[in-house]
Order: sequence, then C-alpha cells, then structure tokens
Amino acid sequence: MSRVYNFSAGPSTLPEAVLQTAQRDMLDWQDSGMSVMEMSHRGKQFSSIAEKLESDFRQLLSIPSSYKVLFLQGGATGQFAAVPMNLLQGKTVASYLSTGLWSEKAIKEAKKYCTVNVAASSETQGFTSIPERSTWDIDTNSAYLHYTSNETINGVEFQERPDSSGLQLVVDMSSNILSREIDIEKYGLIYAGTQKNMGPAGVTVVIVREDLLGETMGGIPTIVDYKAQIKSGSMLNTPPTYNWYLVGLVLEWLKNQGGVKAMEVINIRKASKLYQAIDVSSIFYNAVDINCRSRMNVPFSLHDDALNKPFLAFAADNGLVTLEGHRSVGGMRASIYNAMPEQGVDMLIECMSEFERSH
Ligand SMILES: *Cc1c(COP(=O)(O)O)cnc(C)c1O
Repeated sequence: MSRVYNFSAGPSTLPEAVLQTAQRDMLDWQDSGMSVMEMSHRGKQFSSIAEKLESDFRQLLSIPSSYKVLFLQGGATGQFAAVPMNLLQGKTVASYLSTGLWSEKAIKEAKKYCTVNVAASSETQGFTSIPERSTWDIDTNSAYLHYTSNETINGVEFQERPDSSGLQLVVDMSSNILSREIDIEKYGLIYAGTQKNMGPAGVTVVIVREDLLGETMGGIPTIVDYKAQIKSGSMLNTPPTYNWYLVGLVLEWLKNQGGVKAMEVINIRKASKLYQAIDVSSIFYNAVDINCRSRMNVPFSLHDDALNKPFLAFAADNGLVTLEGHRSVGGMRASIYNAMPEQGVDMLIECMSEFERSH
C-alpha cells in the first residue's frame, strides 16, 4: 500500500496516525466489543468521547468558560443562516467583509434575514487582496461584523484580526482554525466546518460568547437555535457520533504535536518555502497580494495555461495529487493544512522545479 500526498482543499488529508488508530479501534473500541459507530450517543462510553472532544478543543484554543462550544451539522453553509438568525437580536443590519467566494456565499444567505452592509469588497480586484482598512464602511448599527479569515478558494488570509469599530466579530474559520494562535476573547462567534483542518466532513464547530444570545429570534428552526443546542450539549438530535470521535483523534494528535503554537511554526515554514519557490520560478506565479497570502491554501498558476495538464500529470506520477485549482480560479492549488507533512511540501517544490527544468 502506498499513500499519496493529497493536496485536496476539503475533505482533505488526515494524519496517518489518526487513521491507524481508527483502524485499530474499528471493531472494538477500548474493550467495549463494538465500534464507536455502533454506540448509543447517550451511553457512558460515547459520553467519555464527547467530553474529551470538548475539553481537548477548549484546551487547544484556550477557550474561556464564558464561551460555549457546539458541535453541529449542516456545515459552515448552515452557519451562514444560523449566524444572522441567532445574533441579529432585534437589529436589522449586519456588516460583512467580502474577500472571496466564501464571503460572498455568507453574504448571499444573510440577505435572507437582514440588510447586509458590505463594508469592503475586493471583488473588483478578483479577490486577490484585502481592501485597506481606511476604505471600509462599517455600519455601526450592525449586529456584528462578519469576515472569512481564510478564503479557501482564493488563497487570501487575514494575517491579523480586523478592527471592527467596536462591533462583535463573527468569523468563518473553516480553513484555518487551529493553524495559528488566536485570542478567543476578541471574537463574538467563530465557526468552522471540520473537513479542512480538523477531521473528516460532517461536523461544524461553533464557539460563541454566551451572553450574545440574549433573545432568540422568533420562529427559527430549533436545530439552528444555539441556545437549544447549548442546553442539549449539541445533542438536540443524534449527532454524527463517528465523526465526533474522528475529530477527537485529530485533536489528540494535534496536542501530541505540541498544540497550535507548535503547528503555527511549522505552517509558517511550509507556506514560506512554497511561496518562495513560486516567486523565484519563471513559469509559475501566485497572484495574491503578498500581505494576505494564505498559509493554508496556496493557489498558483503557470504563465502558459497549456502546461497545467502536463504539470498535474507529472505531479500525480510523483504521488502528489488533487492539485487542480478551484474551477472558478483555474491553475493549481496546494492545500497544506496541519495534517500535510512538511515532506509533502518539499516534494511539491522539488517536483515544480524539475518540471520547470524540462519545460
Ligand atoms: C469549505 C468552506 C465552507 C463550506 O463548508 P461546508 O461544510 O461545505 O458547508 C465555508 N467557508 C469556508 C471558508 C470554507 O473553506
């Protein structure tokens, strides 16, 4: 058996050690005589998995007790609706920053529930930059300011938390959560789908400052009601138990690697060497403003588009797969989340320079 280096944007590569543990536990989890998949979510065994999941997550991000952590379904896409439903609290406006295709989707959904003030947008620049702070037009009557900390498709990442003019910050961290240290207390709400940097698809984490949930907006579906989910410990209905378990294994792996702080050092190293290789190349380039290049998703193109297919084929021959760029951007994209070993990045760089020599 040989495993490839999988640069998929999501679902994405998982730590091999996690898959091995899952394999070991498959038929018999800790002498229970059954797979985690077969356990009651209300039973003692699964409860211990659920408790460890939350406590490891809280520990990894130093989440204060004033914040609740939810493990939900419906993806980040579900949160595009759940956020305004829960956080408007009688207000009618919310401000959004638009820095890529995921921001746009969040905005489109929020418009069903409130007036969206797009405080800044880099759409006319093809989403390759973040507009200067001085140009933002934040409506201070907004219930919150929403942004996407890492645009998975466009490869644009905020290197610093934006100044929200005093508004509560709400952030979609789907593709860079746990990749760098953050100060939770500076945020009102953070959400993220797990399939980029936390595990397999099927779980969405929400970290929310509890006092923001004063009054629930009338008539919202119970399943998206944060207060109801808090009350039931994210078990308002049957949770995706096996996915919780797998996310838990990824968090345990992360702790063994030295946690988020240690991971950030590696992520900086991986991304810098890849960008450097792209920048010195005469056939490859990256179009994103140098100040907001993503550490997680590195889009790159060939000056000669006709070489895309031969390059992707050459990479695949070398065990480097899923490097196609998103259909809306074209070219290539290397997603290098926590679980992508540094060696995978080194091999990609080597493969690019070898391709350049022969083309
Ligand atoms: C993948 C992604 C989403 C969508 O996640 P789903 O789980 O498919 O709903 C939203 N935002 C960002 C930043 C993403 O990377």
